[in-house]
Amino acid sequence: RKKVNVIGAGLAGCECAYQLAKRGVPVRLYEMKPEKKSPAHTSNLFAELVCSNSLRSDRICNAAGLLKEEMRTLGSLVMRAADATSVAAGGALAVDREKFSSYITTEIRGNKLIDIRSEEVMNFSGFDNETTIIASGPLTSDSLSEAIRELTGEGRLHFFDAAAPIVTADSIDMEHAFFASRYGRGNDYINCPMTREEYEDFYQALITADCAELHEFEQDGVFEGCMPVETMAGRGHDTLLFGPLKPKGLTDPGTGREPFAVVQLRCENDEGSMYNLVGFQTHLKFSEQRRVFGLIPALKNAEYLRFGVMHRNTFLNSPKLLDRYYRLKKNPAIRFAGQITGVEGYVESISSGLLNGIFAACEYLGRPLPEFDDTTASGALCTHISGAVTGNFQPMNINFGIMRPLGQKIKNKEEKNTRIAERALEKIKMTIREYGL
Ligand code: FAD
Repeated sequence: RKKVNVIGAGLAGCECAYQLAKRGVPVRLYEMKPEKKSPAHTSNLFAELVCSNSLRSDRICNAAGLLKEEMRTLGSLVMRAADATSVAAGGALAVDREKFSSYITTEIRGNKLIDIRSEEVMNFSGFDNETTIIASGPLTSDSLSEAIRELTGEGRLHFFDAAAPIVTADSIDMEHAFFASRYGRGNDYINCPMTREEYEDFYQALITADCAELHEFEQDGVFEGCMPVETMAGRGHDTLLFGPLKPKGLTDPGTGREPFAVVQLRCENDEGSMYNLVGFQTHLKFSEQRRVFGLIPALKNAEYLRFGVMHRNTFLNSPKLLDRYYRLKKNPAIRFAGQITGVEGYVESISSGLLNGIFAACEYLGRPLPEFDDTTASGALCTHISGAVTGNFQPMNINFGIMRPLGQKIKNKEEKNTRIAERALEKIKMTIREYGL
């Protein structure tokens, strides 16, 4: 029997392979790990989270929360894994990254319809006339990037992304920190308060610190959604106070007052032994990270399990190249899934893998393709990647702004978003019924 090829066992590739197999379609899944790893991947497991362990908000009045709920309704493997391995994160869905990836790896490896090939795909020879889904991610290997460039006839494939440092829980000075979630929504974060003077010292050190050298191909831009903390600081003295260091909704039990600035640390694992510095993506030199972040009183003696890093990101000029079913317009047997399509983020990448799996399975089985329009978060991403203005296409996180408006005015934002979310979930259920998904 003919198989469908999926390249990359990351977030999108695993979800896609699972959705195909679930519908009885045999899959050949290519993954270059463990023989070869990108600069950000370190684990031998599939579906590795390369930076934060958070899949963002879990409330449907938030667009990322809605997208996750749509995926649960559509029977997502990755969402099942996330729910089964979640750690406390105050209204967000964060996971124990090791357990999360193990769950998915076990499920994929145990699936008889998924034939796993442990190799780097360098080009497309041998893939002729076979449906192939390219889910090789933002750090697609160089040879495959080159082959994609040739296949699509496009020059532009790179931009930036960044990862935040992780410290051990034991090394955080709790004399200078306290547990709380913003607005009294639990106790899930460790908060490191700073006085005005401490912030001033930290800020001056941060904007004058040494950065790691960038490769030539990495010097052409910064993505606003994942901006390095030093770049954000460079935009103005108070910018961080409205961003990752904002004190709003937090009261220091030591003083009974809102601190001047707060760095939040989010738990990384079930055991609570590792914490990441929320919003501290950076490309400072490692020694500078220790020096500058050591000016945050609670992190004076922090032990770093991983320093922040900056990396290349690979994505297509999708509006020109792809249709709303994630197919290459000039050769619809080739599909793209995940971050490489210009959806931005873990959750968005999983969604595009899920839809690709459903679409490719329907094609394989000779069934009509289901329609996901922009009344749903899943469909809004299809519209974004295929319909945005081609001139300056940028990767996009899911947000209510790219979904179809309600058509009636509701002043309260939370209520309005909840109504959009309810409409979306109803539409997803209707589509499942209509197409027998
Ligand atoms: P991946 O999960 O990276 O999967 C791609 C897979 O393809 C990998 O396993 C890789 O080994 C494999 N592969 C690559 N080339 C080949 C080849 N030639 N042959 C075979 N296999 C190949 N998003 C967030 O929401 N939150 C974050 O905190 C976050 N941080 C990020 C930090 C960094 C450094 C980067 C680069 C991205 C980050 N992102 C983040 C963005 C993005 O959501 C993730 O990268 C996400 O993992 C993308 O999913 P994916 O399935 O498209 O790619």
